[in-house]
Amino acid sequence: MGAQQVLETIKEKNVQFVDFRFTDLAGRSHHITLPADQVDEDTFVNGVAFDGSSIPGFRGIEESDMVMMPDPETSYIDPFTEHPTLIVTCNIYTPDGERYDRDPRSIAQKAEEYLKSTGIGTAAYFAPESEFFIFDDVRFTSGMNKSFYEVDSEEGFWNTGRTEEGGNLGFKVRVKGGYVPVQPVDSQQDIRSEMVRLMQEAGLKVERHHHEVATAGQGEINFRFDTLTKTADNLMKYKYIIHNTARQYGKVATFMPKPLFGDNGSGMHVHQSIFNGDTPLFYEKGAYANLSELALNYIGGILFHAPALIALTNPSTNSFKRLVPGYEAPVNLVFSKGNRSAAIRIPVAAVTPKGCRIEFRTPDSTANPYLAFAAMLLAGLDGIKRKIDPRALGYGPLDKNIYELSDEEKREIRSVPGSLDEALNALEADHEFLTAGGVFTEGFIENYIAFKRAEAKDVAIRTHPHEYSLYFDC
Ligand code: GLU
Ligand code: MG
Ligand code: MG
Repeated sequence: MGAQQVLETIKEKNVQFVDFRFTDLAGRSHHITLPADQVDEDTFVNGVAFDGSSIPGFRGIEESDMVMMPDPETSYIDPFTEHPTLIVTCNIYTPDGERYDRDPRSIAQKAEEYLKSTGIGTAAYFAPESEFFIFDDVRFTSGMNKSFYEVDSEEGFWNTGRTEEGGNLGFKVRVKGGYVPVQPVDSQQDIRSEMVRLMQEAGLKVERHHHEVATAGQGEINFRFDTLTKTADNLMKYKYIIHNTARQYGKVATFMPKPLFGDNGSGMHVHQSIFNGDTPLFYEKGAYANLSELALNYIGGILFHAPALIALTNPSTNSFKRLVPGYEAPVNLVFSKGNRSAAIRIPVAAVTPKGCRIEFRTPDSTANPYLAFAAMLLAGLDGIKRKIDPRALGYGPLDKNIYELSDEEKREIRSVPGSLDEALNALEADHEFLTAGGVFTEGFIENYIAFKRAEAKDVAIRTHPHEYSLYFDC
């Protein structure tokens, strides 16, 4: 869809406002809205000005003028506004007309251009499985009660944090017992179906939805794979619709990786593959999990760079509370077919040559999808260019349940970083694979590390509720 078509849509659908959006460093959407009569062809040439200095992680105060440049391909009608509003996603430019090197969407597009320039393939496909919780009530106060975020494993179900109007209604989901029971145990069927309906109207090709493993209110909706930037755009749309539908139902949705201690967290497994034209490059019939050498090298790149990569795919202090044994989240840097405790799983059930792909299970939805997908592709491409063989480096394949290995067997296996700080240190030491082709700049990496270290420090200096049970009576 070009600018002209957007302008026609505005007329046809009686659109009254056009909402220009971009994504900040941390992966949050921001918007500026223009009355429809202020939007014409020039808007798509000159863009929309905004103050970059007020956006977390962007420019310093002395260089605040920035420009949002709309991408007409991305437009869709906002399902939540009272007045008909068209949303258009934008790239960010400096006032001199240069692509802004901290604009996540531009980085995603540069990663796709870089893939083509290597001659390895023409397109990389991504499909995230972004899990989330829907809660009835969250009290975001510093006095948030311990019972909210800690599952009561003795009682066998999550008994806290919810407003139980009319008393306890029975049919509670047991801890880790939420995987696909029907209603009334699954109390969120209608809200997820409504989310799916709105996603479809907004142009997402939704494949399915279900309750997830955690006790109460964890869900997952899957939409169809697409190329890198389009999938990141789709994920922004997905999160927007989930947050706002929950809000319409008087509830709150969160993509936080580990909101409840003692139960499963929310991941964002990312399926990925590379094609050359119509030819899938990851498939080789009869090989281990039908994986080609090129796919193995891609896996090698991801696992080899994982400690640094995770600073972009798991970029919150909370991310590392999910990456612990026992909750279907990966802890060890190995690949395996079918094994959900491995960082990389190769789905083998009902997979065709074109569907042959890898599933990197480490990421979570606090990742900025533009940066995370770009970084995963660059790590994989580095593996392909350097022919990194994951088997030779001790990254598997490992088809046992890793959580149940003996200590000696475990010693052979590398683990994910234990904290955001550790991941940031790894990124500081290993980021050449990201600056290949100028996709990420040195300046971007430096700024990103500083931005995230400040977050980690903010958390570290605060007294944690659990410290009361450990130390209060010392
Ligand atoms: N919730 C799990 C995670 O944190 C994943 C469950 C699943 O395999 O879908 O990654
Ligand atoms: Mg899942
Ligand atoms: Mg999965």
